[in-house]
Amino acid sequence: MSSIVAIVGRPNVGKSTFFNRLIQRREAIVDSVSGVTRDRHYGKTDWNGRNFSVIDTGGYVVGSEDVFEAEIDKQVELAIEEADAIVFMVDVETGITPMDEDVANLLRRVNKPVFLAVNKVDNSKRLENAVEFYSLGLGEYYPIASTNGSGTGELLDALVEALPEDTREEEAELPRFAVVGRPNAGKSSFINALIGEDRYIVTDIAGTTRDSIDTRYNRFGFEFNLVDTAGIRRKSKVKEDLEFYSVMRSVRAIEHCDVCLIVMDATRGFDGQVQNIFWLAQRNRKGIVILVNKWDLVDKETNTMKEYEQQIRQEMEPFTDVPIVFMSVLTKQRIFKAIETAVEVYQNRSKKIKTSELNEVMLPIIEAYPPPAYKGKYVKIKFCTQLPTPQPQFAFFCNLPQYVKDPYKRFIENKLRKEFNFTGVPVSVYFRKK
Ligand code: GDP
Ligand code: GDP
Repeated sequence: MSSIVAIVGRPNVGKSTFFNRLIQRREAIVDSVSGVTRDRHYGKTDWNGRNFSVIDTGGYVVGSEDVFEAEIDKQVELAIEEADAIVFMVDVETGITPMDEDVANLLRRVNKPVFLAVNKVDNSKRLENAVEFYSLGLGEYYPIASTNGSGTGELLDALVEALPEDTREEEAELPRFAVVGRPNAGKSSFINALIGEDRYIVTDIAGTTRDSIDTRYNRFGFEFNLVDTAGIRRKSKVKEDLEFYSVMRSVRAIEHCDVCLIVMDATRGFDGQVQNIFWLAQRNRKGIVILVNKWDLVDKETNTMKEYEQQIRQEMEPFTDVPIVFMSVLTKQRIFKAIETAVEVYQNRSKKIKTSELNEVMLPIIEAYPPPAYKGKYVKIKFCTQLPTPQPQFAFFCNLPQYVKDPYKRFIENKLRKEFNFTGVPVSVYFRKK
């Protein structure tokens, strides 16, 4: 898993400018905490071939000076707790402020790599002035200008050098199942229930970073890694921070898994946050299983489960071919069914269909239901093949790929699902010129 780098410092020193330079057009996740702090940003980047995540911890506060200082302290505390390396940014234009000294005091005691970035060093005069920042007692500093990027290369060279080794590649290539969901959905109870009862457990591997724990698991003849995002509890007193970091952990777990087990609380429903996680998993083209937990708490009548399921499927549109398991970790109802289902989804995702078989099945369907003529032209699909990607992607070769529209692509996707079973797995269909 990639490491986390946090950027801390008081407002206006240039943290978000630096962050934006690192992330560029890549997507950043913005976490708006209403009223109290300004947006926090989280994004991924790479330097010298090393991937890492960056947090701009924000920290702009409207309110009195005390609130303001408390906020900065909290920001730094969180960075110390969560990050693998810290960039402490100061501003040569203003020089050292008391708040910079406070932050330096906190950071001097930290047992993690800290990089002092003296920003806004746009000219040689400022380069000279930067020397005063030695007195913060943090050792060497990096003069940079975030607006034009000067000096940032040296800083990033040193930074990635200090990051812990990326150990993911060394791990055996076991399927990875990530257990994700909102806090309190029952993720840790679920994992404890599985592990507690299981004699086949092989080892506990401490996560490569502190934000997840991998447990090697062996059952039903399947071996996989369970990625637990809930296993580590934060001491943080602040609820919204907990929530933010829990989202961040989920994002990372999703990016590094094969199948996402999305645990939701039946009493809360498929709400906005669950939908976000679902959408993220889908966009990352991961296998998905929805686990509706705490089913014991729901009053049931004849059709309760069916209706509940229909409601969820409505929210999932257009990707509705996803298994939904109603379970209760408390009563142990269907918890192994959940795992069996995840294994099935994993198999669906790794399925490779022979070109001959694929054409045998799909060409007659296409012949019976050809793409509609477009501007008086007919699309002729000649053959199809599955691409050698980790997740199912299919290419259909034809004369006029640009005339094949989305409804027909969906039609083909649905036929593929029906004929070959890709339940729980996003499938891509491409039309290419031949
Ligand atoms: P943050 O509050 O720490 O995130 O700071 P911002 O990134 O919003 O930057 C605050 C101000 O400093 C903005 O007006 C930036 O344009 C300016 N700024 C950022 N980096 C530089 C720099 O390298 N040189 C100069 N001259 N200004 C900068
Ligand atoms: P996490 O934050 O997602 O890891 O959630 P936890 O595993 O800590 O569970 C949150 C709370 O929900 C705990 O009090 C659990 O005992 C409770 N809980 C978990 N699963 C169930 C369930 O199936 N039924 C009921 N009634 N409570 C559950």
